[in-house]
Amino acid sequence: MSGGPMSGGPMSGGSVSGGHEPARDIRPLTLTEALDALPKVELHCHVEGTMRPATVVELATRAGLPLPTTDVTELYTYNSLDEFLTVFWLVQSTLTTRDDWARLGYESVLDAAAHGRVYAELFFTPARHLAAGSALGDIVAGLSEGLAAAETETGSVAMLIADVDRAFGPSAGVAMVEDLVRLRRAGAPGVERVLGVGMDSTERGVDPASFADAYRLAARHGLRRTGHQGENSPPTAIATLVDVLGAERVDHGLSLVDDPELMTRFAAERIPLTVCPNSNIRIANAFPALADHPYPAMRAGGLLATLNTDDPALTDLDLGYEYASVATAFDYSFDDMVAIALDGVTASWLPDDDARALRARIHTAADTLRPRLAASPVYPEG
Ligand SMILES: [Zn+2]
Repeated sequence: MSGGPMSGGPMSGGSVSGGHEPARDIRPLTLTEALDALPKVELHCHVEGTMRPATVVELATRAGLPLPTTDVTELYTYNSLDEFLTVFWLVQSTLTTRDDWARLGYESVLDAAAHGRVYAELFFTPARHLAAGSALGDIVAGLSEGLAAAETETGSVAMLIADVDRAFGPSAGVAMVEDLVRLRRAGAPGVERVLGVGMDSTERGVDPASFADAYRLAARHGLRRTGHQGENSPPTAIATLVDVLGAERVDHGLSLVDDPELMTRFAAERIPLTVCPNSNIRIANAFPALADHPYPAMRAGGLLATLNTDDPALTDLDLGYEYASVATAFDYSFDDMVAIALDGVTASWLPDDDARALRARIHTAADTLRPRLAASPVYPEG
């Protein structure tokens, strides 16, 4: 990928939390601080779900869109998945111009890099915008421009996954993939950042097999494939996503724990799962508390289950917190968490050389952080 978006990126960089080498610091670290600084990968994060509330207010004001409130502390309030989707759609509706997408991409990477994210494959879900007349080429170009600017500033790299929105139906999915293929063929600006396709939005009452045409088309044109499944659908739907749609990765995949046989197969085949424990609690209310989440059962079952934030701005999360809260809830050690970070690299779609370099970088950073952690007094983890 020399000359592409990854060149000069963070894969071989020496710093821990961004592109800038900090002065050597020997201050003792809490586990939370060490996990925040650990270089991490994220594979399940919706770029629209990273929008700062202040940016939503500013873009909405400029576009003349009414908001339920302009109080940035009140904007992201919801009590159910349906209310959450209303807020998500409100955020999406403020994105009207190519520059809006560029700003979103830029701020998104800046905010994630501040918590040790060095590489991401970010979802964007353009169905609503395409239906309203936006051009996919403008969205991709704008996003890529913003991601590139933030990459230059922080060294944190973000690639893109174009998600099919199930709510818009199978033919809209095919049309989006066709659009994407056309942009790739034309070498359109920024399209080199789009690695593949995914699928999100409601799972209930939707047969994933009905989206097979879009996935077949994506595969035929060399696009990678993932999909949201198993958050609100049974293990059979996860099997369909992989076996019928040819998905290489599964986003969420929680219901696998209900089918031990399928779980054993996924573990043996090392099919990656992008799990978002805090999001499952804050958005879907699927579990009363982190301690009730099946993440440890997934790890113990040998699944390649990575950690991700899903919609961090909308849920007041960051990837450092995701790691720290999971470590605390399940009594994982620093090295357990390093193993999860390394699994993030394995689950990614990075080319082999970049993956190898990033793994080495995580090991090096972990070796630097570990002694500072061991030397620190015991802090209560809050
Ligand atoms: Zn998601």
